[in-house]
Amino acid sequence: MAGILFIISAPSGSGKSTLVSEVRKQLTGIDFSVSWTTRAPRGSEQDGREYHFTTRENFLQMIAAGEFLEYAEVFGNFYGTSRRSLEQARAVHHDLLLDIDVQGAAQVRAALAEAVSIFVLPPNPKVLRTRLRNRSRAEGHADEAELYRRLSEASKEIENYKEYGYILVNDILDRAVAQLEAIVQAERFYRNGEPIAYRPGRVLEVAAACRQSNAQDRLQPVLEAFGIISSEGQPQLNFDEDHDDD
Ligand code: ADP
Ligand code: 5GP
Repeated sequence: MAGILFIISAPSGSGKSTLVSEVRKQLTGIDFSVSWTTRAPRGSEQDGREYHFTTRENFLQMIAAGEFLEYAEVFGNFYGTSRRSLEQARAVHHDLLLDIDVQGAAQVRAALAEAVSIFVLPPNPKVLRTRLRNRSRAEGHADEAELYRRLSEASKEIENYKEYGYILVNDILDRAVAQLEAIVQAERFYRNGEPIAYRPGRVLEVAAACRQSNAQDRLQPVLEAFGIISSEGQPQLNFDEDHDDD
């Protein structure tokens, strides 16, 4: 049985890491690719667990040696997925989940067209800002400049939602976790014939509703809130960021 490659992307602070860690508690047979990065560890992050933290010099050497399946510069730091992650998951027939940005996702899709891609959206800019702020406070740092940098990148990243097969709006955490689990189970069922143990009809229904082509009703208010489309569904040229204080 071939392992399935799942790509998950989202604007920073949307809750992607939270979703991934919840789903990994529920499902077996899926590995998480620990990326390499030149950014400094944040909060309680540990080398080898959230990321392999390394120097820019070493990262450049790894690029030159062709060690990355994909890599990109995000917020001024390099991030990359090593080919080894994929090889290791394949060797044990496990699925592999990549938490990577939109640039990296495009590279993986170009190399491995069979990858399943999932885009996670926060419900609106205000919620995103609150989550980013809460996270930095919980991690013991409150870098407002970094927070606004990540917020201003969010709408640009969201415009790439069209490239992804599935869309998740992470509003209520339990619901988003159930949707991500359903997508993994549905793909295992369709690609590998793996049976779904509990309420298979419901699981397939939940996953189908997350397909981009079926998710327009949930997408529309998010795209409007981020100023990507107008309420008439037309592309918006100017993005007026919501500056309300929490
Ligand atoms: P990302 O990995 O996308 O950058 P995180 O998983 O670190 O985001 O989540 C950012 C913050 O938002 C964290 O403090 C997390 O606990 C919180 N969070 C994530 N999902 C939800 C949710 N559905 N409701 C409320 N808070 C959430
Ligand atoms: P953070 O610094 O918040 O952990 O991550 C910042 C961004 O880098 C997120 O969008 C995350 O998905 C992305 N990222 C993490 N690892 C990789 C990777 O290996 N490759 C690419 N292209 N992006 C990554």
